[in-house]
Amino acid sequence: MDAGADDDSTALPTVPDRDAIRSLAGSPAEAGTVVWHREDLRIADNPALAAAADSAAAKAGTDPTVLPLFVFDPAFYGDRGTACDARIAFLHDCLRDLDRQYRDVGAPGLTYAHGDPIEVLARFADAGWDIVATRSVTGRYGLRRDERAAEEVGVRFVDGDGLVRDADRPRREWKAAIESWLAADPFDWDPRRVAVERIAADPGSDANVDRGRGGAFAPTPESVAAAYDVTPEKSMIPEGGRAAGRDRLESFVARIGDYPGNVSSPVDAREGTSGLSPYLRFGCLSLREVHRYVTEHAPDGRGRSMFVSRLFWNRHYRQKLVDWPGWLDRAVNPVYEGFNRDRHDPELVAAWKAGETGFPMVDASMRCLRETGWLNFRMRALCASVYFHVLQQPWRIGADHFYEHLIDADAAINYTQWQSQCGLVGRPGLRLYNPRKQVRDQDPDGEFVTRWVPELGPLPTEHLDRPERTPLAVQAECGVEIGEEYPYPVVDFEAAREAFERRYYDAHPAAAARLADEPIARRASLSGGFDAARAIAEEHGTAAPEATDGSRDREGDRGRQTDLSAFEADR
Ligand SMILES: Cc1cc2nc3c(=O)[nH]c(=O)nc-3n(C[C@H](O)[C@H](O)[C@H](O)COP(=O)(O)OP(=O)(O)OC[C@H]3O[C@@H](n4cnc5c(N)ncnc54)[C@H](O)[C@@H]3O)c2cc1C
Repeated sequence: MDAGADDDSTALPTVPDRDAIRSLAGSPAEAGTVVWHREDLRIADNPALAAAADSAAAKAGTDPTVLPLFVFDPAFYGDRGTACDARIAFLHDCLRDLDRQYRDVGAPGLTYAHGDPIEVLARFADAGWDIVATRSVTGRYGLRRDERAAEEVGVRFVDGDGLVRDADRPRREWKAAIESWLAADPFDWDPRRVAVERIAADPGSDANVDRGRGGAFAPTPESVAAAYDVTPEKSMIPEGGRAAGRDRLESFVARIGDYPGNVSSPVDAREGTSGLSPYLRFGCLSLREVHRYVTEHAPDGRGRSMFVSRLFWNRHYRQKLVDWPGWLDRAVNPVYEGFNRDRHDPELVAAWKAGETGFPMVDASMRCLRETGWLNFRMRALCASVYFHVLQQPWRIGADHFYEHLIDADAAINYTQWQSQCGLVGRPGLRLYNPRKQVRDQDPDGEFVTRWVPELGPLPTEHLDRPERTPLAVQAECGVEIGEEYPYPVVDFEAAREAFERRYYDAHPAAAARLADEPIARRASLSGGFDAARAIAEEHGTAAPEATDGSRDREGDRGRQTDLSAFEADR
């Protein structure tokens, strides 16, 4: 980024200005309703848009007026932002597509604004506009922003994502609540009965020329990308937007029968799972329209039921962040707060991020993540497990790294999944993956490993799970010297795993016991609710530490327990 948001001399102005807003309506009484789009970049099944069309009608008594708005917030760009440039480019695709969606129904399109959203929205409110937005599930920054938007500007947030809010026991009857939301009619509006307003961006404006000179900066995806020097460096990034999302949904459903066989291998999953996560993350498609399309068009069978269970998982993890916003920075179980902090080793963290740990499946995955912004579930879980259980590093740094690089990065899923994978909830059983077994099981031909760790290409396939054990004669013959071309494992896997388990299970009875505390049970937001949390506390809260003496299968990936038992029938 070269537009230093903290440096006033170069900061981009807040746009649109008050005059442009005032010129829209003859008087405040004639102003309509702003639809503030954030993570709902679609016009179909959009709660805020439907509510705006309704409330605008009630207010005017004539043709309702709606102004769809997106605010480019400097907090998400450059050094202040947490997203890689490829994710920002994906978002910008989605915005161009949203603009097209409005035009396709005869409206003039989307209004782009730039600046602190509260300041921008206040200008509309001062000019008499009501403002409505779909309530979303966000981290700290978004929560504070939305609280301010409600308090200072009077933004009306409408629910519509199926999640349970403000309930004493959110998990009671939760699945039934989601099912009834999925079955309900989509949010609807009639474009023929709504006048859509727009403040046009001046196509001739050049962000680089105008910046810092007080000139009229016209925010568009292009001018904002230029001003903030958005330079995506990843490859294989899907095109953003609803049209691309719909294509993907339709082509996936045509081959959904192959889905169960494709989820685990990182090669097969690339085209074999739906690839819908970034479209769901940015709301190009609503989750329930995906659900509806699948139930109406996919053949009955395991592929369909497995996929539908994943859509429930999406809601399940989002519900967790609704129930406790602290998932992003604190261990959900206080007993595990700070776990691994005393072992923080920046060199180990750097090796993990760079894909240079000496564990080929981890290294291939981490390089693939950095290069393409996507990994299948199993490889995400493997990398999180090795990072926390084997390298024994603080979970949050790893989770932030994922959050930066994933195109589908969703705070509500990423951080909750990280804590679940690491074992910070205090449920019994660890999801401890063995990176060597993953090579043998998921990449027996070495296609994934050698694609992303090409220096191992000449090594015979049977050594790809443990290159460090390759006989010296073989290394010499194929010209790959372990320790030179490719590192030895940065830690001794067995010793590190045992050390971790000892520490973890020593603390586990105390952690399990804490799940009996109502505030902690609420945070954990298990699918079985407080009863499930209490049952864990009773059964494991006083138990002796589990054995770490090798009595369990050393090569297995252990502890597959998840808190998704309600949706697990087809796993
Ligand atoms: C450490 C870790 C971090 C993760 N971070 C994210 C994230 O930031 N954003 C994200 O969308 N997913 C995340 N996941 C979940 C999962 O890996 C991705 O949703 C999935 O790989 C996306 O590919 P897909 O759309 O082809 O999935 P499909 O298998 O086609 O699934 C369809 C949809 O179901 C949902 N889904 C699938 N698996 C899960 C799951 N385990 N938990 C919750 N929802 C699920 C997603 O919305 C997904 O798009 C994470 C998993 C782990 C282990």
